[in-house]
Amino acid sequence: MAITAPQPQTVFPRQTSSLDARLELPENVVVSRLDELASWCRKNSLWPMPFATACCGIELMATGAARHDLARFGAEVFRFSPRQCDLMIVAGRVVMKMLPVLQRIWLQMSEPKWCISMGACASTGGVFDTYAVVQGIDRFIPVDMYVPGCPPRPEQLIQAIIDLQDKIQREGTITGREFDTAARQLQKRALTESGNPLTLDASRNPVIQRQLAAERSAAAVR
Ligand code: SF4
Repeated sequence: MAITAPQPQTVFPRQTSSLDARLELPENVVVSRLDELASWCRKNSLWPMPFATACCGIELMATGAARHDLARFGAEVFRFSPRQCDLMIVAGRVVMKMLPVLQRIWLQMSEPKWCISMGACASTGGVFDTYAVVQGIDRFIPVDMYVPGCPPRPEQLIQAIIDLQDKIQREGTITGREFDTAARQLQKRALTESGNPLTLDASRNPVIQRQLAAERSAAAVR
């Protein structure tokens, strides 16, 4: 009986390319760009920072629990220290009083970092069209993915994480050039965008007050 020698196993499926032919790569060697490698590591090791303020938070917890098991997608390590996280998930409505807390936590997270806005309330204020509720967190921090619904199901949040992973792999660079966009760098305006912010109870919000002071001093210099 003829015995054939076992074939060497490759860890990753290899694609034959003209580069392979030129370099004559040995087995188990993968050639890639550093950007691709960094993005591959980043997308598979997302550590969420839960900012759950209302009922959407329950769906967020369900996403991490046994039935939906977010661990299958490499993003189950919820951390409550912003220094250890790179994915903020805002689940629930954010009131003006909580806004400085949200912004402070976002600033404490180290780059590269991403944000998912989960549910109608976080994305638009939902049914709470009042002066006390933030009408969309993207007025204050940059958002990468929006999850619609009231509340969204765990499957929707998982889909958002998968889409975010695709985006990180597609656009990611090791130097973070993808964050150097107008949308990211734009100074996030508070409710000052509405002509007369004081009518919106801005006087009690320190974030808005700081922005107003900065704009006033900039105008004085001009
Ligand atoms: S979107 Fe619906 S479920 Fe989510 S926080 Fe708002 S009211 Fe609650």
